[in-house]
Amino acid sequence: MNIDPIKNGVVIDHITAGCGMKLYTLLGLGGLNVPVALITNAQSGKKGKKDVIKIDADINVDLDVVGFVDPGATVNVIRDGKVAEKKNMKLPSKLVNVIKCRNPRCITSTEQELDQIFMLTDEKNKTYRCLYCEGKANV
Ligand SMILES: [Zn+2]
Repeated sequence: MNIDPIKNGVVIDHITAGCGMKLYTLLGLGGLNVPVALITNAQSGKKGKKDVIKIDADINVDLDVVGFVDPGATVNVIRDGKVAEKKNMKLPSKLVNVIKCRNPRCITSTEQELDQIFMLTDEKNKTYRCLYCEGKANV
């Protein structure tokens, strides 16, 4: 599949196949009034399949969200048709308003104006805990 190269924008590459949609949703790309292409199961050299997201607009992508969904992804910033910046992701130590606490007794479920804050407590298992109730959330 061919997608026109973008001139100024962002390409999120090397997303684990199957994670593209989740990333698209968590980044809120559907709500942006800009052209976005989500390519699933693209061929990725010898490594098999990958997902790719192309955003045809010079926007700031929340790198914490990308790192949270897939620390193996790369974010390329395209300017004048060339890769101007290549950013490697890592699992963020803190997540603010990315995921919601599922504990109904957590203070965040009654105090709606509170930020949803999760801290990385176990890097190996990708476990995050709610700052307020220590409720667990896995990626
Ligand atoms: Zn909580």
